[in-house]
Amino acid sequence: MAIYTRRINVGDIPIGKGALISVQTMTKTKTTDIKATINQIKKAAEVGCDIIRISIPDENSLKAFEKIKKLSPIPIVADIHFNYKLAIGAILAGADCIRINPENIGGKERIIKIANASKKANIPIRVGVNVGSIKKETLDKFQGNIVDSLVASTLETVHILEKCDFNQIKISAKASSVTDTVLTYRKLSKLTDYPLHIGVTESGPPETGTIKSSIAIGSLLLDDIGDTIRVSLTASPVEEVIVGKNILKTLEFLKEGIDIISCPTCARCEIDLIKLVNEFKERTKDIKKYLKVAIMGCVVNGPGEARQADIGIAAGKGEGVLFKKGEIIKKLPEEDLLNSLIFEIEKF
Ligand code: SF4
Repeated sequence: MAIYTRRINVGDIPIGKGALISVQTMTKTKTTDIKATINQIKKAAEVGCDIIRISIPDENSLKAFEKIKKLSPIPIVADIHFNYKLAIGAILAGADCIRINPENIGGKERIIKIANASKKANIPIRVGVNVGSIKKETLDKFQGNIVDSLVASTLETVHILEKCDFNQIKISAKASSVTDTVLTYRKLSKLTDYPLHIGVTESGPPETGTIKSSIAIGSLLLDDIGDTIRVSLTASPVEEVIVGKNILKTLEFLKEGIDIISCPTCARCEIDLIKLVNEFKERTKDIKKYLKVAIMGCVVNGPGEARQADIGIAAGKGEGVLFKKGEIIKKLPEEDLLNSLIFEIEKF
């Protein structure tokens, strides 16, 4: 988590200056469908979403937003493009943060109006630029350089907000390429200390989007860049949140649940380890306790290879061993391995 950034709050979620990295997603329902939207928010919250964003494309969505805001269990960012009046309306309707896209919100005067309304409501503004919405003039000014265009567009708006004496600012500048995303945020982190919302935009379906997002978000977080994350997938908000949380768990920024260390198997493996690991994953998916659990295919190297695990099993021919911190504590028949491991985890 970045410690050099300033602190803002979106509802009750702190962002920046050493706060835990929060995970965000966005609803994918029609905002006018209040029931479906609330249902999606609740499902995302159940898997650990900290902040949700909702698009407000028109007046009817704004009316629905007012009701949704009252029913949401987590803070909401109102996502506004083109129409600054919808931004003002969302602020009045209780939004916890407003996301504006400087490339399409309609110029300086409108940004000032949104800043004044946000100041009055004491909520932050996310200045969010995406590669897909950069104006041709902006790109031409930087000879088509995406990184420079994203950085310049973002900072220009930040300066307008600062001139209004407004500094509850969060910044995002996302590209759909991993390299451009990483380079853009690296540059921004040197030029500003406002908290950064990081992610790859339009990263695609889960198979590839997960990889793109993990590489970009992971590289940035390891460099101490980024305060809140969103994984953008062509998939449900729940999937986005699960991937986001898994990125944080992988980096050990979030210590929650079972971290499985399982071997790739080889000719020494005497059991169906893939099946065993899948069964274990399913049976322990709701455990919140943070433990590193090893599931290894043989007793020859198993406990040694998994020394960094808290607890684990190593299978052999028709039997296996249970070990803690690399030391064997029990020998068990193969059919008891999984149950015994789960039993030990529950009492760990
Ligand atoms: S733990 Fe044993 S079965 Fe698994 S990869 Fe290592 S040597 Fe092979």
